[in-house]
Amino acid sequence: MAAGREKRPVDMDCAIFSGGWFHAHLTASPTTIVELLPRKNIVRSLIAVNMATAPSESEVTDLAIASVLAELGSISSLQPEQLEALKSFVGGKDVLAFLPTGVGKDLVYQIAPMVFEKLGRVNPIVIVVTPQVALIKEDQNTEDLHLQPVDLMENQIREATAIGVKAAQLGGSDDEGIAQGEFQLVLGGPERWVLEDEWREMLSSAVYQENLAGVVVDEAHLAYKWSQQSKYQSELREAFYRLGELRSLVPEGTPILALTESADLKSVQKVRMVLEMEDAHVVRASPNRRNVRLGLVPFPRDKTVSLGWIIDEIRDKGLDMNCIIIYCRHLKAVNKVFSHLKYELGADAWVGEKVSSNMLIGIYFSATLDKYKDRIRKSLVGEGSCRVVVATGALGNGIDFMNVGKVVMYGPPENMENILQMVSRAGRDGKKADAVLYYKDEQLAKVDKAVKAFVEAKSGETCIRKRLLGHFEDSPVSVEPDHNCCTSCHRACKCAGDR
Ligand SMILES: [Zn+2]
Ligand SMILES: [Zn+2]
Repeated sequence: MAAGREKRPVDMDCAIFSGGWFHAHLTASPTTIVELLPRKNIVRSLIAVNMATAPSESEVTDLAIASVLAELGSISSLQPEQLEALKSFVGGKDVLAFLPTGVGKDLVYQIAPMVFEKLGRVNPIVIVVTPQVALIKEDQNTEDLHLQPVDLMENQIREATAIGVKAAQLGGSDDEGIAQGEFQLVLGGPERWVLEDEWREMLSSAVYQENLAGVVVDEAHLAYKWSQQSKYQSELREAFYRLGELRSLVPEGTPILALTESADLKSVQKVRMVLEMEDAHVVRASPNRRNVRLGLVPFPRDKTVSLGWIIDEIRDKGLDMNCIIIYCRHLKAVNKVFSHLKYELGADAWVGEKVSSNMLIGIYFSATLDKYKDRIRKSLVGEGSCRVVVATGALGNGIDFMNVGKVVMYGPPENMENILQMVSRAGRDGKKADAVLYYKDEQLAKVDKAVKAFVEAKSGETCIRKRLLGHFEDSPVSVEPDHNCCTSCHRACKCAGDR
C-alpha cells in the first residue's frame, strides 16, 4: 500500500466481512475452509493457510477473490497477471497493468466491485474512464479521422451485467440511478468525467465520497494518441491532459487502475505522468503471441499477385478454411482488393446460391451496413460463411476474433500499436497462425517513423518479433526464435524443420 493511503484495516473481529460463509471460513480450521468453499478446486493453495494466526492481508484478498469466482461459477480462475492487478487494486494501490489481448483486461474491473464488497465495503462503486469513440482514418485524401462511435461501452456493460454487476454509462437513461449510487460500475468517456460539471459534482457528492472504491482508466493512451492525430480533437486533448484532476475529485487514497492492451512505451510514459502514477505497481503480461508466425514481405511489382495464395486457399478449402483478415489502410484499397478477389474467384466466391449470406468473401469498414457487419462478426466466431474479410482498422473494437488463422496487412499500418493489435487477432484459439505485412518501399515514405524503422531494418538480418516487441517492452524481450518465429528466423535456420 502506498504511504499515506487510507484503507480499512484487516481486522478479524470487525464486521468488515459481512458475507456469511466468508466470515465463517476465515475463523474455521484449515480442513473446513475447503469444505466451505462452494467449488473445492478453486483455491487449493489456501489449504495451506495457517488459520492459527490471523491471515495476512494478501491471504484475505486471495480468499475474497476466490469466493467471488466461486459464486460466479462461470470463471474458474484468473490468469496470473489479472490476479496480480486485481489484488493490488482492491488492496488500495495504484496499478498500471499491461494486459494484451487474450489476458482479459476488462474482467479485472468487472469483478472488482464484488471483491471490494467481500472485503467489507458497503455498496462499493468503481468508475471507469474509457474511450467512447474510436478514431479511424479510412480516406487517404483527407487529413480527417472519422469519429466512430463504438459499441465498446455497451459490450462492457452487457458483460458486467451478465456476471451480476450493475453497470451503466454516463449520459443515458440511467443518470439518475447513477447519481444515487445504484450502479456498482459506472462507465464514461474521459471528456465526460473530466470536463462536464455534472459528473465532477457527482464525484464530490456524499454518495460518491462515501462509496467510491476505485477508479479505472481504460486505454487512456488512446485519448493522447488521437488528440495528437487530429486537429479537431481539442476536447479529447484537454480531457487527457486533465485526467490527473480525477485525483482531487475522488476521496483521498482511492486507488487508480490504469489498463492497456497495447500502449507503446512512449504513450505509457505520458499516461503515467498525467495520472501521477510514477509509484504505481506495474503488472505486465508479454504481448508476445508465440503461436503466430510473423512475416514481412515486399509487394511484388503487381500488388495483386500477393493475393494469389488466398484465392487458392478459398478454392481449395471453401468453408473448411479458417478466416483470413486482409487489413488495408484506406477505403480505396479495400474496394480494390475486394473487387480483385471477387473477379478472380468468379462463381467460387459463393457456396451454393449467389446470395450475400453465402459469400466466402466480405468487406468491413465503418460505413458498412449493420446487417453485413453482423454477417462478418458471426463468421469470425465460426458461425457464418465469410472466410476472407477485407477491412479497414474499423474491424477491431468489440469484436471476437475466435476463428482467424491468418492476418494480412496489405500495406504498412498506421503505427506500431496497430501492427501489434492486428497480429494479435490471429490464432486466438492457440493454434499455429500467421500474420504477414506486405509493403512497398515508396509507402514507407508516408508512414509513422517507428513503422518505417520496423519494416526497413534489413529483414534478412534481425528477428521481426524482437523488433516488434522491443517497441512495447522495456525489459529484454522474451523471445526464443526458431524457424517458426518469423520470416527472418526462418531464413536463418538451416534445419528445414516444421513448416
Ligand atoms: Zn524471429
Ligand atoms: Zn529450423
